[in-house]
Amino acid sequence: MSPAPVFRFAPSPNGLLHPGHAFSALFCYKNAQAAGGRFLLRIEDIDPGRCKPHFEAAIYEDLHWLGLEWEEPVRRQSEHMDDYAHALARLEAMGVLYPCFASRRQISAAVSHLSSPPRDPDGAPLYPGLAKSLPPARRKEMMASGKACNLRLDMPRAIALAKEKTGGVISFHEQAGGPKGERGDVAISPQIWGDIIIARKDVPTSYHLSVVVDDALQKISHVTRGQDLFYATPIHRLLQILLELPAPLYRHHRLVLDSAGRRLSKSARDISLRALRQKGYTPADIQKQWTAPSTL
Ligand code: GLU
Repeated sequence: MSPAPVFRFAPSPNGLLHPGHAFSALFCYKNAQAAGGRFLLRIEDIDPGRCKPHFEAAIYEDLHWLGLEWEEPVRRQSEHMDDYAHALARLEAMGVLYPCFASRRQISAAVSHLSSPPRDPDGAPLYPGLAKSLPPARRKEMMASGKACNLRLDMPRAIALAKEKTGGVISFHEQAGGPKGERGDVAISPQIWGDIIIARKDVPTSYHLSVVVDDALQKISHVTRGQDLFYATPIHRLLQILLELPAPLYRHHRLVLDSAGRRLSKSARDISLRALRQKGYTPADIQKQWTAPSTL
């Protein structure tokens, strides 16, 4: 008998959950139930500056209120930095990482002369490769000085290596649909992100690295999440190939919008699940108003 499918909902405790998260959590939970699968909750709290214990407590409270149940213990990323360090060391040994000492301001200054600098799918200017051209002696000197640095992925080199490992095309499998209706085996072009940060100056990992390591360690077979993360999937698939991790199936769902057609945000306090609950909303009201059952 093949093992039961494993699904996960993976919020970051950096604000209160809103109906968009309720949609995402319920989407995951209902898909897990329909598939006779397991449902895990993972707390993505690698960022100590933004993640707070009271937000984590609120996640448990809100999800229980929505009627969700999950397996214990919950994986908290901050407790597993060794796992990310191990994966980072493997990437480093492959020669696909390089240190970057440039600040955000220096990067903006370096592209300021361009009338329309190339941008990544999130709209940020692509990293112009400043540190890539550092002479090796200078790079060594900077590293020896102990100056904090980001570790960036040498994207062309990483893609070449991934292609070598897979024998050509790299793709992931999308079961629901991307923002442009992408579905099935989606060939990927992670180069649209440029040389992304894999380990940050302040935290020796990144969202991308931690999520890929955890999905593999937790044996996640189905990743369900919002379409805002659809274009991050090529990065995840690339890292999975390099680290020889299994590829989960992906199911990206539509985003919940406010009445003006904007995505809900954690900073919009009045629309948090907690605020709505205090106003007398029930879980059924949340589902009716924001999460059309037909799309769950
Ligand atoms: N932690 C991410 C977020 O809160 C979700 C990560 C994922 O589902 O891959 O947006």
